[in-house]
Amino acid sequence: MQVFAILPAAGLGTRMAGPQPKQFLTLDGIPILIHSLRAFASVERVTGIYVAVRLPEMERVQAQIAEYASEYGFRGRVHVVEGGSHRQESVEHALAALPAEAEDVVLVHDAVRPLIDAATIERTIDAVIEHGAAIVGLPAVDTIKQVERTAHGALVTATIPREFVVLAQTPQGFRYGLLRSAFAEATADGFIGTDEASVVERAGHPVAVVPGSAINLKITQPGDLALAEFYLRQRKG
Ligand code: C5P
Repeated sequence: MQVFAILPAAGLGTRMAGPQPKQFLTLDGIPILIHSLRAFASVERVTGIYVAVRLPEMERVQAQIAEYASEYGFRGRVHVVEGGSHRQESVEHALAALPAEAEDVVLVHDAVRPLIDAATIERTIDAVIEHGAAIVGLPAVDTIKQVERTAHGALVTATIPREFVVLAQTPQGFRYGLLRSAFAEATADGFIGTDEASVVERAGHPVAVVPGSAINLKITQPGDLALAEFYLRQRKG
């Protein structure tokens, strides 16, 4: 059994309001994508890592991977594929490039979550081996409201008890055969999910949850970078 990782990094990061996609911004002088890659490369069981990027950025990413290859053990393990017009399509392209068998494990991780740690990756792999599908999820600390969007703003329609909620993070891991067939079903039905688990859930397969951490944040808005720098300094110190 092999373990592969897919890092979709073909987004434009429009919420970041900067001149370049957020996966190329640096954290402690190192591109965010390289931080994410480094975490997966540090897990020995991960034999191949596939990064999906936009065509105009392929050369730049190849060069960055080459620059850090010997330092972080990327050599021969990291491959670059062309992304798609939305996240699911980017993951689908990478899936098609994997030399995987049905029983192999595939982890999908947002390139823009650079503070993922090796222990959480290991726990996710173990949960996939046990359950077939598993995601990292963060228990909700805020009270969760369901709302209806109206012309005058959002109106609360219900309160969802916190104990029934986790916030889905990544990695999200699956047996390769399960993920491929769930993706094929989604494509046939024209379903586009915001994460891989939603694609697998609608195929009727249970998905286990591995405890996540607020440190595994998704760099989305300008302040997130400063927060990530803070967590990184703490980790180093
Ligand atoms: O836009 P969002 O924050 O949901 O993006 C999550 C991840 O999916 C990012 O790492 C982004 O680069 C990636 N993505 C992609 N292909 C797209 C859109 C987003 O690989 N077309």
